Amino acid sequence: MKNLEVIVPCYNEEESIAFFERQMEEIFALLPEYRCSILYVNDGSKDGTYQIIKNSSAKKQYVNYISFARNFGKEAAMFAGLFHSAGDFVVVMDADLQHPPELIPQMLDGIKEGYDCCMARRINRKGENIIRQKLSKTFYRIMNLITSIDLVQGSTDYCLMTRQMVDAVLSLHERERFTKGIFQWVGFQKKYIEYENTERIAGESKWSFRSLFRYAISGITAFSVTPLHLASAIGIVVMLAAFIYALYIFGSALSSNAARTGFASIIIILLFLGGMIIFLLGVIGEYLSKIYIEVKQRPAYIIRDTSLKTTERKKQYEENIDHYSGQGDQ
Ligand code: UDP
Ligand code: MG
Repeated sequence: MKNLEVIVPCYNEEESIAFFERQMEEIFALLPEYRCSILYVNDGSKDGTYQIIKNSSAKKQYVNYISFARNFGKEAAMFAGLFHSAGDFVVVMDADLQHPPELIPQMLDGIKEGYDCCMARRINRKGENIIRQKLSKTFYRIMNLITSIDLVQGSTDYCLMTRQMVDAVLSLHERERFTKGIFQWVGFQKKYIEYENTERIAGESKWSFRSLFRYAISGITAFSVTPLHLASAIGIVVMLAAFIYALYIFGSALSSNAARTGFASIIIILLFLGGMIIFLLGVIGEYLSKIYIEVKQRPAYIIRDTSLKTTERKKQYEENIDHYSGQGDQ
């Protein structure tokens, strides 16, 4: 019998977890041929999430949790979940039920067809701000243009992977993780399962425009050095333009005796060049900060508490002590 493990990053999800768990139980009941379990990763929630998942884990053998010492972000939470997972098949999904659990049987069918990974893909963005939709589209376009990976428009972090793919994902050791890109970078055969976006069951999205912008920059700098090449290209273009302009001034100085007063043009050129230099330094700075973060080798997260009894989760799985075993598993 194969193990199916569901990893759920949670940040301030006290209102969603009970609904989530009930829905997952319904799905697990449809999958008697798998030993199913949930691994919550509490990402330093400030509400009652920790107590809720701890209580649930105490009552139900198939529920486990990892709780961080503070908020490290969803990327770190997903990484921790994958790192501590031991399932033959691993699902990563949100706690707010925006990722429909009823896709899991379809995802498992995809695996049976021979795919290594089944990813959920939103075909609309209902309930989302129009500016956010447009910005997201632009982000995907830029990513695909300047990186070697192909992000699929609307793809989410919600996916089911084989153990082989999880191990491949974990073999990338970077601290600042851009999971969507990593899932593409490792390759493997992927099947996309489409679904309609739904609004979250309770609470609110943790993403602000600022954090989304940072996320986009982090994705681009993690998978492409094109901005650095672009910086040199821009430098060459500006130099060429300056040379042509110098020729023009030289030519007109020879052909007329008028005194050349170029105050406005000098200011414009100065501001233009100054702005561009600062911008390009910023681009270099982004990469420098990446190197700085990676060189420090700080852990991606710190665990404060966990229900996992042994770091060798495989043993636990073999002993079959933490799996869903029917509706009345209390
Ligand atoms: N999340 C997390 N850490 C964070 C922010 C979010 O673990 O710092 C979790 C959150 O609890 C949820 C998932 O990541 O399960 C997606 O978050 P959210 O619903 O806020 O994002 P959206 O659906 O708006 O993209
Ligand atoms: Mg959500």
